[in-house]
Amino acid sequence: MIRGSCLCGGVAFEAGDQIEFRNCHCSRCRKARGAAYASNVFVRPADFRWLRGEDLLINYRLPGAQRFGNAFCRTCGSPMPRAVPMRDLIVVPAGSIDGDPGIRPTYHIFVGSKAPWHTITDNLPQYEEYPPA
Ligand SMILES: [Zn+2]
Ligand SMILES: [Zn+2]
Repeated sequence: MIRGSCLCGGVAFEAGDQIEFRNCHCSRCRKARGAAYASNVFVRPADFRWLRGEDLLINYRLPGAQRFGNAFCRTCGSPMPRAVPMRDLIVVPAGSIDGDPGIRPTYHIFVGSKAPWHTITDNLPQYEEYPPA
């Protein structure tokens, strides 16, 4: 079980079993997170619930994108979990998790478009785009 919250504390959530933990280096994630890459944990919708502040969320859908969006707290701007269209998943920004989720990132995706100023220094597998199915 993991718990998470935003910077102002207005939004909080909890979730059960984490399915995956990966880092995405695509340009969209870079913009949305204001960081070199996005660290994302994935859970099933059935294992996820908002504890408070769901009404504070803004869900931005990127026009023309099949999967991409950005959910954040309207008060403090912290990225928050969102449902992934087309996949039965909730993506949880790892930085929003309070405490240790107990799992670690297992690979990097969209390394082909990573920030030129960022160097990956771990030995995890790297994929140019999505990993092979
Ligand atoms: Zn907030
Ligand atoms: Zn990405």
